[in-house]
Amino acid sequence: MLAQETGARLHLAHISTKISVELLRQAKGKGARVTAEVTPHHLLLTEEAVRGYNTNLKVNPPLRTEEDRQALITALADGTIDAIATDHAPWARHEKEVEFDVAPFGMVGLETALAAIWTKLVMPGELSAQRAIEALSTRPCQIVGTQGGRILEGARADFVIFNPDQIWEVDPNNFASKGKNTPFAGWKLQGRVIETVARGKVVYRWEK
Ligand SMILES: [Zn+2]
Repeated sequence: MLAQETGARLHLAHISTKISVELLRQAKGKGARVTAEVTPHHLLLTEEAVRGYNTNLKVNPPLRTEEDRQALITALADGTIDAIATDHAPWARHEKEVEFDVAPFGMVGLETALAAIWTKLVMPGELSAQRAIEALSTRPCQIVGTQGGRILEGARADFVIFNPDQIWEVDPNNFASKGKNTPFAGWKLQGRVIETVARGKVVYRWEK
């Protein structure tokens, strides 16, 4: 409402509930300059996952209900939610190995985002491949006003090489990140980033 009133541009991070999606849809319908993003964990997990008090599932905003999750998927598919952002929040093991109540909020997500979205939303047909890739690359770049997210002659070479057939299991011990606090440990995923190129340099290559 404030964005619409003032004409200001507003980006909403980590949209997680059905009511937020409804407000966002209304605001966009009235022409407010609003964009929004959702995380992979809010798209793929619900509060049910927290039953075991695994501190790697403690995140802010918290995991929600299945009804919320379905609303997020629909909104992402129809473009009401613009982008997917991981909210990558690494913690050292000892910081998460405490009682649930006192554990810090946050999960890592960078190394699983594309494969998890691919396996759980694109492959079952809930989200198109085009929309998934756009939400992870082109659209975020448009929102923050950078040149990335597209492959063009003369443009900065920032891209990943993705093998959609590769099946692998998430083992945090194999992460490049020192942060191992993933909610997806043990998940079997299909689709694997084989290589990451940033500013024209290979910065990551998957070694089987
Ligand atoms: Zn955050």
